[in-house]
Amino acid sequence: MLNIVLFGPPGAGKGTQAARIIEKYGLVHLSTGDILRGELAAQSKLGLEAKKYMDKGELVPDSVVIGMIGSKLDQNPAANGFIFDGFPRTTAQAMALDELLGKKKTPITGMLALEVEKEELVNRLLGRGKVSGRADDQDISVIENRISVYNRDTAPLIDYYSAQGKFRAIQGMGTIEAIFERLCLAIDALH
Ligand code: ADP
Repeated sequence: MLNIVLFGPPGAGKGTQAARIIEKYGLVHLSTGDILRGELAAQSKLGLEAKKYMDKGELVPDSVVIGMIGSKLDQNPAANGFIFDGFPRTTAQAMALDELLGKKKTPITGMLALEVEKEELVNRLLGRGKVSGRADDQDISVIENRISVYNRDTAPLIDYYSAQGKFRAIQGMGTIEAIFERLCLAIDALH
């Protein structure tokens, strides 16, 4: 099993790179952002509740996203491994993930953190907002809030995974292909 946490601030390129990684390594992609947007498109109660947080660039409550990830893990018992994208985002989420995976005896193999300068993040998100129509990518104050929330609540996970010897920094500036190659080198060195 290969279980990877793909980590980084909003706009770091996690979704883009996750799509390539799952193809090469045969992993199941679990993106909490994608799952939440799916719930919203389906107008589910969970989706409509989550929208209140997402539109402001705040985090959806831990219990909601942890529950979602727990059921996705149960729905994929035959997976070769998972790539977690946009999850965990808080220490409580990381601890819950360790517990869920501990029960399945398949721990996190490594955490790959894409490092991108703030100015580039803002440019990428505004660019994506023009094509994706995502409300949270079209408003500069929401983008700034997401980056602040990342720095305050999510960046501490670097210490969490470093303490387990699982943190790997990846330079996230450059072409999609060059960044993918760096990620593959890091993944191949994990197992
Ligand atoms: P990005 O990484 O570009 O901000 P995502 O698609 O990962 O985009 O997340 C979009 C929004 O969904 C977040 O701003 C947040 O409101 C919500 N969200 C996604 N994942 C989580 C999570 N693990 N915990 C809490 N909220 C989440």
